[in-house]
Amino acid sequence: MELTGQSFIASKRGAGSPAFYGINPLTGAQLEPGYAEASAEEIARAVQLAAEAAAPFAAISGRERAAFLRRIAANIDAVAEPLVERAHAESGLSLPRLTGETARTTGQLRLFATLLEEGSWLRARIDTALPDRKPMARPALRSVLRPLGPVVVFGASNFPLAFSTAGGDTAAVLAAGCPVIVKAHPAHPATSEIVATAIQQAVADAGLPEGVFSLLYSAGNGLGKTLVLHPAVQAVAFTGSQRGGRALMDLAASRPQPIPCFAEMSSVNPLFILPELLAADPEGFAQNLFASFTLGAGQFCTKPGLIFWTKLPGSDAFLAHLKKLVDEATPQPLLAPGIARAYEQLTVERATQSTRAAAAKPQGNAPFCHAEPQLFSTTLAEFEAQSKLAEEIFGPTTLLIECPDLASYVRAASGLEGQLTATLFGTEADLAAQPELIAVLATKAGRVIVNAFPTGVEVSSAMVHGGPYPAASDARFTSVGTRAIDRFVRPVCYQSLPDALLPAELQDANPLGILRLIDGTETRAALS
Ligand code: NAP
Repeated sequence: MELTGQSFIASKRGAGSPAFYGINPLTGAQLEPGYAEASAEEIARAVQLAAEAAAPFAAISGRERAAFLRRIAANIDAVAEPLVERAHAESGLSLPRLTGETARTTGQLRLFATLLEEGSWLRARIDTALPDRKPMARPALRSVLRPLGPVVVFGASNFPLAFSTAGGDTAAVLAAGCPVIVKAHPAHPATSEIVATAIQQAVADAGLPEGVFSLLYSAGNGLGKTLVLHPAVQAVAFTGSQRGGRALMDLAASRPQPIPCFAEMSSVNPLFILPELLAADPEGFAQNLFASFTLGAGQFCTKPGLIFWTKLPGSDAFLAHLKKLVDEATPQPLLAPGIARAYEQLTVERATQSTRAAAAKPQGNAPFCHAEPQLFSTTLAEFEAQSKLAEEIFGPTTLLIECPDLASYVRAASGLEGQLTATLFGTEADLAAQPELIAVLATKAGRVIVNAFPTGVEVSSAMVHGGPYPAASDARFTSVGTRAIDRFVRPVCYQSLPDALLPAELQDANPLGILRLIDGTETRAALS
C-alpha cells in the first residue's frame, strides 16, 4: 500500500508537507513517509462533515451499522500482514503481540456488530398511557438511547491497533451511531494510515455519509485542543497520561457547552499478597509477578505497580527470587523516545524517595529507547508519607510496600486513589478472612481480581476497564467491552408521539424483536 503522509478529511486526503516522522524505537531510524499536520481548514472541514453525517448515520438501522463494522474488520484482516509489520517498526512491539492485537481489534468490531444485530442494548422502555389514573392521567412515555453526535478519539501510544484508529473507542463510537474524528497518535502515523484506509473504504462501500470518519495528524497539542473546543464535537475519548487526560477534561468542561471527556489515564493497580499464598510457592509467585510487571516492557495501564506484602512464611524466598529476576533481566524496548525519557526521569526520582531493591544491569551499549527493569521497595509508613510513591511509572518497574501486619492492608487500601484494577492473591481461607479489604477495594477499582495478574483485559460483555479518578474521568463507564458504547449515547424520551413517527425500537409492533421494558416487565412481545 502506498503511504501518503496526509490526513483523511472524510473521503478526501489532506495536503501539506512533512512535519514529523515515525521513529523505529528499536533502531532510532526515521521512517518514511513524513506526515503533514492537518491545517485549520482541514480540521474545520472534517468536523463540519462529521456534523453533517451525524443525523443520517444515527438514522440507519443497527443491522446496517453492524454490517459496516464487519466491513471494517474484514478490510483490516485483508491488510493484516503489512499492518503488523509497520506497527512493529513504529512501536517496537513484537510481531506475535501485534498479530494478537490485530485479532483483538477486529474481534471487538465484530463483538459490537453482534450487539447491534441483537439490538436490546438500546434499553427501550415503554410506560403505556394511563388516561384514567387519579388524580392525574399518565401520558404514553417511550425512551431509548440515541447517539450523541460527532466524537473525537485520541489514539493511544501503547495499543497502536486495539486502542487507536479502529480501536475500542472508535468501535464503540461508530457502534453507537456517532461520526468519529480520530487524532492519530504521532508515534505510529503509518499504522494509523493503513487502518484509516480500511475504514474509509468501508464507509464508501457501505454508502454511508463520508463524514462518518476522519483521521487527522499533528505532532503537537494544538490539534487536540482545537477539536475538543469545536462546538460541533459532542464527546471525547482519550487513553494516555493523567496530565494529557486532565487537560482535555478541563478543556471539555470549559466550553460554552461543556461535553463529556471520557479519559482513561493513570492507574498503579495495587496487588495484595495474603498470608497462605507465599508459603506454598514463593519462587513461582515471584516469577509470575516479574512476568506481569515487565510484560510489554510494563507499558500497560493494568501493570501491577504497587505490591503490598507483610513478613510471613515464604516472604523472604519470594523477595530474594524477585530481586534475582530483576537483577538478571535485560533492558527492554519502550514505545517511543518520549516514554523512555519519562521512565528514566521518574525512576531516578523514585530512587530518591524509596530503596532501589534491584535493577537490571544495563548492557554495555544499552540500545536506543530501552528501559532497564527496576524494583523499588518502601514501608507502608513511608508510602503514606510521600504521595509521589503512589504515582504511575510507565515501564518495567514496580514498588514493594512492606506492611507491618495483615490488619494494615485495609488502612493501606483505604488511602489509595481510584484504580483500574485491584488484585488479591491468597487461598480461599485467606480471602474469607478479608471481607473488609475486598469491600474497600471495590470502592477504589473498576475490577477486583483474585489470583490472577491484572495485565490482560478481556474484551467482553461483563468487562469493566475504568474506575474512580484518576484511573478514569468518569467511574460510571468502561472503555473496554460492550458497555463502552454507553459513553456515546443519551436517553431520549418521546411523550405521546404517534407510533409511525417513533424510532423502530419503540414502535408497538417491536419490528426489531428486541427486549424492552414495558410497564416494568421485560419482554420481546409486541404491544397490543
Ligand atoms: P499522552 O502524552 O497523554 O498523549 C496522548 C495523546 O493525547 C497524544 O495524541 C497527545 O498529542 C494528546 N495530548 C496529550 N496532552 C494533550 C493536551 N494537553 N492537549 C491536547 N492534546 C494532548 O500519552 P502518550 O504519548 O501515549 O505517552 C506519554 C505518557 O502517558 C506515558 O509515559 C505514560 O505515562 C502515559 N500513558 C498511560 C497510559 C495508560 O493507559 N495509563 C497509556 C499510554 C500512555 P501530542 O502527542 O500530539 O501532543
